[in-house]
Amino acid sequence: MAKKIITINNLKKQYGNQVVLNDVSFEVNYGQIVGLIGPSGAGKSTIIKLTLGMEKADSGHSEVFGVHMPNRKILNRMGYMAQSDALYGSLSARENLTFFAKMREINKKAIEPEIDRVAQVVDLTEHLDKKVENFSGGMKRRLSLAIALLGNPQLLILDEPTVGIDPALRKQIWEELGKLRDKGCSILVTTHVMDEAELTDRVALLINGNIIADDTPTNLKQQYGVDSIENVFMKAEGDM
Ligand code: ADP
Repeated sequence: MAKKIITINNLKKQYGNQVVLNDVSFEVNYGQIVGLIGPSGAGKSTIIKLTLGMEKADSGHSEVFGVHMPNRKILNRMGYMAQSDALYGSLSARENLTFFAKMREINKKAIEPEIDRVAQVVDLTEHLDKKVENFSGGMKRRLSLAIALLGNPQLLILDEPTVGIDPALRKQIWEELGKLRDKGCSILVTTHVMDEAELTDRVALLINGNIIADDTPTNLKQQYGVDSIENVFMKAEGDM
């Protein structure tokens, strides 16, 4: 049986009268890229925050590496990229990366080469010594992703990692995610870009607080009799 890296059981969440998550369950298995897709406001970030224990669910629970969340030690074993960038504007990109590398307890000698490696993945090498407050939105996203990649974590949780990033670099980033997966990294990634969903090993479709389908892109397209995940989505939404 596949090794479970994330298990989410019956998460429910309401903000005031608004039910954001009805009853959400799914899993991320070892060495898989799982895409959580849904329109803006569908509840993707909420699932991630509840999974990590950053917000409290009304009911249900989640486990990461078999440990009930929240758990600080487990958080140190993963790379997490939030939807909003949490960066120090007055510091350079290199200083930001150094700060987070120290927090991740990366060996002092390994920090410099590690920063060079992750900067290359997101194409920020030339901008490492510029202050982050002068970065564009896309550059900030790229730096946040580089921070998540520090230290080759066994699990990556990426909330809309490619927003504001141009198509060529977007492709490069997805290729890198594929390589990391092939080395045994497990990745949960949210996106509202349907063609990115085609690049995952499994897709969970989130509509109105429910996961209405969860399968490989190929199986989903077959099941709905269409040729793209975008059309799966349209059909699934139409069926509701
Ligand atoms: P997504 O990530 O899919 O864009 P979110 O999980 O961010 O969606 O948000 C889902 C819904 O929950 C939205 O309608 C949003 O306005 C609402 N929401 C999220 N966080 C809060 C909060 N702290 N208080 C009230 N409403 C919230």
